[in-house]
Amino acid sequence: MIVAANWKMNPLLEETGQLAMAYTSQTYDGVTRILFPPHPYLVHMAMRLADSGIRVGGQDCHAAKSGAHTGDVAAHMLAACGADIVLLGHSERRSDHGEEDTLVRAKAETARADGLSVMICVGETLQERDSGSAQKVVLSQLVGSMPEDIDPQHVMIAYEPVWAIGTGEVASTADIAVMHQMIREWLDGRGLNAVPVLYGGSVKPDNAGAIFAVPNVDGALVGGASLNANDFGAICKAALDVS
Ligand code: PEP
Repeated sequence: MIVAANWKMNPLLEETGQLAMAYTSQTYDGVTRILFPPHPYLVHMAMRLADSGIRVGGQDCHAAKSGAHTGDVAAHMLAACGADIVLLGHSERRSDHGEEDTLVRAKAETARADGLSVMICVGETLQERDSGSAQKVVLSQLVGSMPEDIDPQHVMIAYEPVWAIGTGEVASTADIAVMHQMIREWLDGRGLNAVPVLYGGSVKPDNAGAIFAVPNVDGALVGGASLNANDFGAICKAALDVS
């Protein structure tokens, strides 16, 4: 089981030390924890979490190795700051910055070339779900975003229905099961049996156990609840209980 915390553009710098202390005071042997802090906090968090077993990652990277890209961050810079993984294609990157599958794939290729693992996010909008095209959309995002010949040990997929992110709405366990089975079959068909598939979208302590019990759910990508160490800990505990 893998539980990843996506802090997005939160919290305040002065809150990070206490959060890190609370994260490291908890142990969940057998659960892989990953923290995606805002980029300016990366070195600081990598140092705070050193020897804790909690992995640290970037929330995005550029597809190029360097150059005139003001405000962007290169994969090798994330690695130099202590990251060993990068989140790519998050729906907020796709919606706020117009990122499309081909760009996500290019970023993943660069990140892998620079030694980072990648967590690639896919997920349908509410409109796509309501129109019955959720599976088609997610499959197309997978096909378009996943590099060829990627090492399965260094890639994870996060299925995050866009309408469930930060809204308090969660996909039903039946819908999660259908989507995760489809993603699993697609991965297995390409020899990517080792690639874990996480669910994301308003995972909280009170729903984590039911979500983790769904077949082919290998963990969770957690946004809001990761900003509360007790809630994040309870989600990790739920992961531990099913692993
Ligand atoms: C996310 O940030 O990817 C996410 C799923 O957020 P939340 O848990 O707040 O819905």
